[in-house]
Amino acid sequence: MKIAVVGGGQLGRMMGLAGIPLGIDFVFCDPAANACAGAAGPVHVGPLDDPASVAAIADGADAITYEWEGVPASTLEPFVHSHFVAPSLRALATSQDRVAEKQLANELGLGTAPWIAVDDRAGLTTAIERVGTPAVLKTRSGGYDGKGQHRILSIDDGDAAWTALGPAGSLVLEGFVAFDRELSVIACRGRDGATVVWPITENHHEHGILRESRVLDDARTQARATAIVTTLLDELDYVGTLCIELFEVAGELLVNEFAPRVHNSGHWSIDGAETSQFENHVRAMLGWPLGRTDPLGAVAMLNCIGALPEPSAALAIGGAHLHDYGKSPRPGRKVGHLTLVAPDENTLQERLVAAREVIAATAR
Ligand code: AMP
Repeated sequence: MKIAVVGGGQLGRMMGLAGIPLGIDFVFCDPAANACAGAAGPVHVGPLDDPASVAAIADGADAITYEWEGVPASTLEPFVHSHFVAPSLRALATSQDRVAEKQLANELGLGTAPWIAVDDRAGLTTAIERVGTPAVLKTRSGGYDGKGQHRILSIDDGDAAWTALGPAGSLVLEGFVAFDRELSVIACRGRDGATVVWPITENHHEHGILRESRVLDDARTQARATAIVTTLLDELDYVGTLCIELFEVAGELLVNEFAPRVHNSGHWSIDGAETSQFENHVRAMLGWPLGRTDPLGAVAMLNCIGALPEPSAALAIGGAHLHDYGKSPRPGRKVGHLTLVAPDENTLQERLVAAREVIAATAR
């Protein structure tokens, strides 16, 4: 069997590394010749907004998937009649537009921050008046890791926000959510509609970039997150792995955004769950049964940003698993992660303290 993956970053690499033991071949397309998924299969070099890049890898593929949600739907459109392409282009296109994403969530009865689409300067003033402050102005598409966002504390910040983001095109103003926790829920739906859900994680970001995810054992919140992700998966007739980022505020869960792909907050599942988000994604692509998602203990994941820790120091920590994405170090770049698995929460806490020290010693 062969899976063609659009995008050749670390998500594609880990997808490949999960599927190779199952006898699956992988082929990738990516703009960079040295794309790190090259460790898991050949990489065709080409832009991801050009169907010719997909055509170069589609031959003989049993499924076409993507590891980057910025791939324009028009790149994949030509292949939906000849190939199994998943997650669906509706899921992809919806996730690329924060307004469509929130509209869909609200139509399905899922809560979000209050929001209003903004198309011009006058519209921004109206939106600030209606949403209130504090608020966050965001680009409707293309923003990631906190980029394309501007905080608005009072109506007087309108001009500065407009100067920063107005030229970027269509925008959305969101009420600022004073969340208690940021969570994410990841699930995978098979071709037959069977769905598995991993334990939710609590996520900590710095400068908009995910630093740590910790797996939660919280049955009440889990049940509500599972209901949210199942609602969205079923509505989209989704196949593959989906992540929804959530704000928890006063016991309520609000949808921030979703990613129609494997997600950084699910990397812990490689070493810390019975079946990883990557393996279940490739199983789903081929119509194979999905594996159980039970955690293998108390689990947390720390991102290595800018540089990798010294392997001998990281691996000296009990239950530590180091993942090096094979990318050259650069400030702000995710170059690997460290997963910690422990028999109980107290031991995990001790290991986390040690792991943070090892990572801080090398972080740039
Ligand atoms: P996003 O690109 O929407 O995931 O935003 C990046 C980060 O900014 C989130 O993980 C939150 O920490 C923060 N953020 C985004 N939107 C809001 C909001 N409406 N209220 C509070 N914090 C937000």
